[in-house]
Amino acid sequence: MVKCFNCAGKAVVELSYAGAAFCQPCFFRHFERLVRKANREFRLVRRGDRIAVAVSGGKDSAALLWSVKYLAELAGDVRVFPVLVDEGIAGYRLHAIVKARQLCKKLGFGLKVVSFKQLFGRQLDAIIRKRDSGKSKGEGACAYCGVLRRKALEKTAKQLRCNKLALGHNADDLAQTFLMNLLKGEAGRNARLRLNDEGDSPFVRRIRPLTFVPERECALFALMNGLPFHLGECPYSTEAFRGTVKDFLNEAECRHPGTKLKLLNSFLELRNAVVPKDASAVKCRECGAPSFNETCRACQLTRALNGGKPRSRSVKRR
Ligand code: SF4
Ligand code: ZN
Ligand code: ZN
Repeated sequence: MVKCFNCAGKAVVELSYAGAAFCQPCFFRHFERLVRKANREFRLVRRGDRIAVAVSGGKDSAALLWSVKYLAELAGDVRVFPVLVDEGIAGYRLHAIVKARQLCKKLGFGLKVVSFKQLFGRQLDAIIRKRDSGKSKGEGACAYCGVLRRKALEKTAKQLRCNKLALGHNADDLAQTFLMNLLKGEAGRNARLRLNDEGDSPFVRRIRPLTFVPERECALFALMNGLPFHLGECPYSTEAFRGTVKDFLNEAECRHPGTKLKLLNSFLELRNAVVPKDASAVKCRECGAPSFNETCRACQLTRALNGGKPRSRSVKRR
């Protein structure tokens, strides 16, 4: 029998990267420690905060909502607003919404659902059909989805008068993002990935309580806690470069446990060394949203889909 690293009881989880194994109660305490570590290092949740929480119905967002609730209770006087963005992906998102509603109910929250259709006039499926009907190849589905979802979350968080937006990025996600940006020749994006900036910014401050929690542990935590989540896979995920990077890192982790956390630590170290603290945002000249370019990425993508013409009721200059 493998013994728990802490209490010598029967272990139910083995963490080879840490050379540790835990029984269920000790694994929960280990998870909480990782969440508190992110809270301490990046000053995430504070008394008086209003926090929009991005939930998708998946395992990470289940672990995220639980973690934000946990940190909110520790801080006191924090309001939490789960938000789900329905991209409009047939056969996928609706099942996830059902699970997200069950999760919110279990944890005592209401769920606000916003959709691409409402905000941008088209569902993701329609955007991809439009892309595929054009002469040029266009972007991968995840580029449209990621950019528009970020914009939808930012906008909704502002409407809810939230000062923070919690995202479910776990340690695996951040290690993948770091490596992807390097492989795509976009190292500057790593510098703009904000983890702990509290200065003036036109964006709602994004917080990532799962920064130090590996993906597998998010899933185990959600499962062992009986948190509802959806296991399906998005039909567009095969288009994603992230999948290639994820497979590579999983294989490296399997052969050399600890690789992902070392990569994450390298990212955090480099960020501290090179991040320009004032990566300056301007107002998008088409929609007025904060952007690092004259025209925000969402407007650029929408314009390209419309043959170069700006559109969308939701993206008027403020
Ligand atoms: Fe969106 Fe890509 Fe994720 Fe599917 S896999 S939900 S298209 S980002
Ligand atoms: Zn134990
Ligand atoms: Zn814009």
